Amino acid sequence: MTTTVTTISELKRIRHAWRAEGLSVAMVPTMGALHVGHLTLVKRALETADRVVVSVFVNPTQFGPKEDLSRYPRDPEGDTAKLREAGAHLIWMPGVEDMYPAGFSTEISVAGAALPLEGEFRPTHFGGVATVVTKLFGAAEPDFAFFGEKDFQQLAVIRQTVRDLNLNVDVRGVPTVRDADGLALSSRNAYLTPEERKIAPALYRAISAVAQGADAEMFKESLLAAGFAKIDYLDVRDAETLAPYEKGSGRPGRVLVAAWLGKTRLIDNCALVI
Ligand code: AMP
Repeated sequence: MTTTVTTISELKRIRHAWRAEGLSVAMVPTMGALHVGHLTLVKRALETADRVVVSVFVNPTQFGPKEDLSRYPRDPEGDTAKLREAGAHLIWMPGVEDMYPAGFSTEISVAGAALPLEGEFRPTHFGGVATVVTKLFGAAEPDFAFFGEKDFQQLAVIRQTVRDLNLNVDVRGVPTVRDADGLALSSRNAYLTPEERKIAPALYRAISAVAQGADAEMFKESLLAAGFAKIDYLDVRDAETLAPYEKGSGRPGRVLVAAWLGKTRLIDNCALVI
């Protein structure tokens, strides 16, 4: 059975009942407009724990002042139907007032893995993410939490927050789910025009080539030639610290990209082949 709650007190009541029964709990934080990528996280969570909580919350504090908060896709009915079908036990759909009541005044600031790449282009983003994820964990007290590698830097930032603040959550990353043409599934793909959607798979082709050793600068040019408007970054980084990759270090590397297709900003990444 799938139950939906909005308030933190309802969530805690159910979570504590599960604890009394000795049941383990996995959480999947999302911003809704759910697709097969999100549902894959739910599936992994169901395989791992006795009970699965999916939060659906478009967190305003992780959007910059000029970003897409007001037009971010929302589909609570569709999300509920998909999560019922997937077998999630609890859907938590808090309102902004439940998460940020009057007087809310704490913010988590993360350095390290949060500083480069997205951190340069979206300077307030990871503070908002780390704060909301810590709140989600504080309320739901999950034993496990599932995040997609699609947001690879976010996963690194959350691992760092959990480590630094001694949070009792086992964070698990899940490989990116893609369309047949390679485009990573994303709620933001809904913004793409049909013409842009045809161009979009060039992004994954570019990072796959760079992962095999091709020159990143050359592939930036080829993305611009394919119709992308601007490349925020396309770079090879240390997969754990996200510092510039040291060739020959033998450490795992990651190719990460953020690029604008019309008015839509797409991100993607893949493992460096060494
Ligand atoms: P979002 O709703 O965009 O905040 O994403 C919620 C979670 O789903 C995050 O952990 C994302 O990394 C993950 N996610 C989003 N898209 C994908 C995808 N294509 N494959 C795997 N995980 C994904």
